[in-house]
Amino acid sequence: MPKFAVFPGSFDPITRGHESIIRRALPLFDKVIVAIGENGEKKSFFTMEQRLEWLRDIFKGQPKIEIASYPGLTVDFCRKNNIPYILRGLRTAADFEFERGIGQMNKLMAPGIETVFFLSEPEYASLSSSIVRDIILNGGDVSQFVPHGVVIPSGGDQG
Ligand code: ADP
Repeated sequence: MPKFAVFPGSFDPITRGHESIIRRALPLFDKVIVAIGENGEKKSFFTMEQRLEWLRDIFKGQPKIEIASYPGLTVDFCRKNNIPYILRGLRTAADFEFERGIGQMNKLMAPGIETVFFLSEPEYASLSSSIVRDIILNGGDVSQFVPHGVVIPSGGDQG
């Protein structure tokens, strides 16, 4: 059975921290599916279309990476698509506590699915989508924090 993993997230927007985890996971899996959860409650900063377009652009020409979006629970997406591994990143102790809750609840709901954690690279340990959004809102330059190919539209195109 091919080894598939999903890296679920909001990617609002994708940062170099996310990109680094995806690239580091590639040698371990046959396919990494980068998937944006459609979170009805949480209003995103960038539209789903914009976030998907960035992911497709960044990873085009990478046969082992697929881009997707999904409604509902990550474990249901995994079960539907036969994906036995969920990837998540850890920057801090706060991330650990947050991820432990999600990971252990997922384990109770779907015992056959394992969550695999990657420690953030030290240079990305303080990087988050929310800080990037804050810099954008205040007119700063985020190009060093987002992957090459992510061009932030100047006004008007935010979701
Ligand atoms: P979510 O809304 O599900 O938390 P995010 O897009 O914010 O989604 O993050 C997806 C995953 O990437 C999470 O596991 C998060 O901890 C991890 N992550 C976010 N930023 C970084 C970073 N700079 N370094 C390592 N992991 C990160």
